[in-house]
Amino acid sequence: MSGFLCKRLAGLNPYVPGEQPKTGKYIKLNTNENPYPPSPKAVEAVCRQADNLRLYSDPDCAIFLDVLARHFGVGRDMVFASNGSDETLAFVFQAFTEKGAAFADITYGFFPVFCNLYNIDAKIVPLREDFSLAVQDYYDIDRTIVIANPNAPTGLAVNKNDIRGLLEHNKNNLVVVDEAYVDFGAESCVELVGEFDNLLIVGTFSKSYSLAGARLGYAVGCHELITALNRVKFSFNPYNVNSMTLAAGTASILDKEYFEYTRGEIIKTRILTSNLLRELGFSCTNSMANFIFTEHPDIRAEVIFQKLRESGVLVRWFNKKRISNYLRISVGTTDDMLFLIDALKIIISEES
Ligand SMILES: *Cc1c(COP(=O)(O)O)cnc(C)c1O
Repeated sequence: MSGFLCKRLAGLNPYVPGEQPKTGKYIKLNTNENPYPPSPKAVEAVCRQADNLRLYSDPDCAIFLDVLARHFGVGRDMVFASNGSDETLAFVFQAFTEKGAAFADITYGFFPVFCNLYNIDAKIVPLREDFSLAVQDYYDIDRTIVIANPNAPTGLAVNKNDIRGLLEHNKNNLVVVDEAYVDFGAESCVELVGEFDNLLIVGTFSKSYSLAGARLGYAVGCHELITALNRVKFSFNPYNVNSMTLAAGTASILDKEYFEYTRGEIIKTRILTSNLLRELGFSCTNSMANFIFTEHPDIRAEVIFQKLRESGVLVRWFNKKRISNYLRISVGTTDDMLFLIDALKIIISEES
């Protein structure tokens, strides 16, 4: 470690992303990317913007945020754009955690990393035995509450009424709901932002809009929260979203038909794949996301993970307490998933 690094940062445990192989020889089901390309209209918009690259991007993200606000039916002063939603989450952890943060033991791996980075006191609240989240565990917890809904990597969702209860029992605490996967079947809480000034919704274009590589995230909340996020952004990187990405995001929202088609396909393929996995003896959580969280009663997840890799299929395995026998498998195309099922059949026959 360089002696120039601040002591405060020497003990960081950075986030470990899923593998991004440099060759195309794998079926990639390990980072919850969308198997479908972005909207063709988004691709055209990017090409048009490329001509303007000599100019800085719009620091106010005005066109994109106009369209996003209309899409959610909220005021123009209630939306914020960022370089991926991880950037919004970084701002949130940096800016809104005076009293510390609270989140689940099994959830998005970036939450504890941010606490580490910004020196935030984190209260870890265990999920129930079946990985469901009891909102009552967070009532009057006197910290900033961060919930991924649906949760990663379990795929389980909390319904809107439960989030409402949580907001009512935490009038003096901020509740951040990370809706990265909400478009794949869960209930969004965006419409509660008009009613609750302690709610901030965080979202991304990486999953349901097929724009992971463009890096585009957003937040929706009351005017005061958005003003605060802008204070942080303009103290860090006013041009946080590049102009090609803004154009891609705007065109993607407007192409509703393509969005509905691709997310419908992913939901159908998730259901089909879960059923096929169950026929092979796997158990699956009731995932509302674009991934499946699954366990085999007889064969260790680590073994399946390794053997799938040898068969050319990348999935995610977390060597972590409570979930070390589970695999998180992103939903690809139907062909991808049928290839996966065939590979699993061979692995099961070899291992039993
Ligand atoms: C993928 C993911 C994100 C990050 O999305 P980016 O916009 O690509 O930074 C945020 N939260 C959760 C729970 C995710 O799984």
